[in-house]
Amino acid sequence: MTVTETQYQAIKNNDKSYDNVFWYAVKSTKIFCRPTCRSRLPKKENIEIYYTKEEPVRAGYRPCKRCQPLGEIVSNEEWVQEIDTILLQNYQQKLTLEELSYLARGSESNLRHTYKAVTGTTPQKRLMDIRLEAGRKKLLKTKLTVKEIAKEVGIGNVGYFIRKFREYYGDSPLQFRMKNTEI
Ligand SMILES: [Zn+2]
Repeated sequence: MTVTETQYQAIKNNDKSYDNVFWYAVKSTKIFCRPTCRSRLPKKENIEIYYTKEEPVRAGYRPCKRCQPLGEIVSNEEWVQEIDTILLQNYQQKLTLEELSYLARGSESNLRHTYKAVTGTTPQKRLMDIRLEAGRKKLLKTKLTVKEIAKEVGIGNVGYFIRKFREYYGDSPLQFRMKNTEI
């Protein structure tokens, strides 16, 4: 169901009187929340309204970590898995920690802390791993230029991409391509 103006205001104002009356799902993030959720207000066109909390689950939405609409606590491990999924789906775009924490529905500091505690690494480091690995594959399997590849893996600055690539793999992207591609 699309959101009515009254419901949108309730979400905007974290109106407690609507708790357990409806739940809202966010199409762009595939997560659903209570109206009282303190997370950033989504765009109106991305919101879908449900009148039971089971329906959004059936429709494939995941419960929000912050407001826990099912009343169950999402474990840190589950949350980290979700963060990894978001990283894999969004690494080609510019992705700040702020944007990531919005997509994963948690605060920036909580996200960074939890991610580190579970995986031993930071979300930024994991994002870089994903980007460089995707870049490595593209160097081998495409004829794109280094600049084009850098852009496609979400690193706008080609100089930075080259530097990080060398740091990870010991060669510059072009050296790597020459050594590993059959002519
Ligand atoms: Zn929420």
